[in-house]
Amino acid sequence: MGDLYRLSCEKCDSAGAAEISFEGFVGGVITGTEQGGRIVTGSYLAFLDENDEFVILPHPLESSRLAALNVTWTQASFRGRLFLVVNMICRECGAITGSPRIHHSISAGCLLGLSVLLVSYLLLWWYQIKFALFISMAILFAFLVCADWTISRWLKSRYRARVLKLSKRCCDQCGSLEIDFIGKCRGERLICPQCGERSLKVEFGGIS
Ligand SMILES: [Zn+2]
Ligand SMILES: [Zn+2]
Repeated sequence: MGDLYRLSCEKCDSAGAAEISFEGFVGGVITGTEQGGRIVTGSYLAFLDENDEFVILPHPLESSRLAALNVTWTQASFRGRLFLVVNMICRECGAITGSPRIHHSISAGCLLGLSVLLVSYLLLWWYQIKFALFISMAILFAFLVCADWTISRWLKSRYRARVLKLSKRCCDQCGSLEIDFIGKCRGERLICPQCGERSLKVEFGGIS
């Protein structure tokens, strides 16, 4: 699930059906469809193929697209080929730059998570400790947070060269370093890439 945003210029865009940029998602609930502008996603998953080209895994079809590539979530994650492409918007020109960050899916760790829950619950129950289920849920949560952090750190260091090569620190269009998450610019007026005026509105546009 991801956030969608509406980018509309007070000067260039008029009300009407919003133009939907289906890069990164294929379905979603869009609010204010008649308010015009362009709907874009905040981020999406992508698989880096053998030719080092990104294959977009649009939400909510990520699993089937990955399966079509004959790759599992675990393989994509641990080979350092699963990326979260975060759409960043430029405060200087309004262009959007996709910034890939190495990512992993810990859904593969579900079985392990369930084992942690079960073992901790049984141990607590055996020693007749009160609130055994509640405590074991807390242990599971702590385990998942630690596992997520550890895997992320490991992937970043294992595939450091790739991460550095693909990371984007500036705008693709004008080279400015003033790029930010689209969501962080909600409610602001940014420079419109078409007319160059500070009239580009960034609003919440729905969820995918
Ligand atoms: Zn720019
Ligand atoms: Zn404009």
